[in-house]
Amino acid sequence: MATRVEHRAPVTTGEPPLRIVRSTRRRSRATAFARDGHIEVRLPAGLPDDEAERTIATLVARVTRRDRARARGGDEWLARRAAEVGRRWVDGVRASEVTWSSRMTRRWASATPATGRIRVSDVAATFPDRVLDYLLVHELAHLRVPDHSEAFHQIVDAYPHTAWARGFLAGVSHAGVTGVDRPDQSSVPDDPPSSSASGSAPGSEPSSGG
Ligand SMILES: [Zn+2]
Repeated sequence: MATRVEHRAPVTTGEPPLRIVRSTRRRSRATAFARDGHIEVRLPAGLPDDEAERTIATLVARVTRRDRARARGGDEWLARRAAEVGRRWVDGVRASEVTWSSRMTRRWASATPATGRIRVSDVAATFPDRVLDYLLVHELAHLRVPDHSEAFHQIVDAYPHTAWARGFLAGVSHAGVTGVDRPDQSSVPDDPPSSSASGSAPGSEPSSGG
């Protein structure tokens, strides 16, 4: 049995065109990946049209964000940036690991003080340096002070672009283009890994503060 292939123009100008491949197998999973200058979306058989369109939109956005994070320098670059930001602005605090996250779509970034890990949503991969640095300052500060107490604000407010970055993030949230709410710390884990390749709804509940 043949699969059905459909070509489409890119969702956004400048992005790769889409190749939608509909499998004949009902049990196959919806996935998307970059391939041969296309974003290829594979859909299982029997998906209703509206669900197929939602799945395509979700998966294409995810692949696009991942590409942008990679273009910015990937995890290695982000970890170096965090080390520099920690050295300059957060009293030499170092994270044990700093990575981009494709699953975090309701928060800009998160820190887990117990393990020293920081994740930054790849939604932020196109943000200006000082906004990205603010997110890193915020999460690095949480490795010292887990809550949003006075001690936390003393650290974050020492970074000179905090107010500007917060204004930028508020504007992006208001525009609602990313589905991301506000930055926050958390010891709340990301979504389980199983959601990464499916068209499931976005991540965990937003936390307060930021
Ligand atoms: Zn916070």
